[in-house]
Amino acid sequence: MLSCEELKARIREVPDWPEPGISFKDITPLLRDREAWRAAVKRMADLCRPFPAEAIVAPEARGFIVASALAYEMGLGWVPVRKRGKLPAATLASEYKLEYGADVLEIHRDALRPGEKVLVVDDVLATGGTVAATLDLVRQLGAEVSAVAFLIELTYIPGREKLAGYEVVSLLKY
Ligand code: AMP
Repeated sequence: MLSCEELKARIREVPDWPEPGISFKDITPLLRDREAWRAAVKRMADLCRPFPAEAIVAPEARGFIVASALAYEMGLGWVPVRKRGKLPAATLASEYKLEYGADVLEIHRDALRPGEKVLVVDDVLATGGTVAATLDLVRQLGAEVSAVAFLIELTYIPGREKLAGYEVVSLLKY
């Protein structure tokens, strides 16, 4: 199985995208390489297995890519969290701050049962804003978060501070 260093070699760093000063971590070369993608999913599953969970919860859009594969590998179902107006049935909402302005994430009201244990998953931990809003939705439904897991963590941004009190794990650190 490919090592984490070999997986990192398949992450393309695009400087100054989408804005000057941002180093964008592009996972598409990792997704394209069947050996690397398989190893990434298996290693994420190994990272998550110590935390018992009945379901995975993930925000759109790249969170879906990771959550779907991870749920399949771990034998779990998963719950999509989407931007406002995208989910068809009754929803709960959580507002979160962006660099400029705010946005709203939603979850289906019937997606989780109170007390159910879940893993919250996304591709990249940057400021932690997206995942904090996702955690708020899980909390509103009364479910329990066993851990928060990321494929990539940007340790030079204090995203973990927003997730104080939660178990946070990540596979590839920058
Ligand atoms: P944040 O809410 O700041 O933790 O980031 C939310 C989402 O933005 C992450 O799930 C990523 O999909 C994306 N993102 C933020 N910063 C980067 C980056 N430097 N490279 C790639 N994706 C990023």
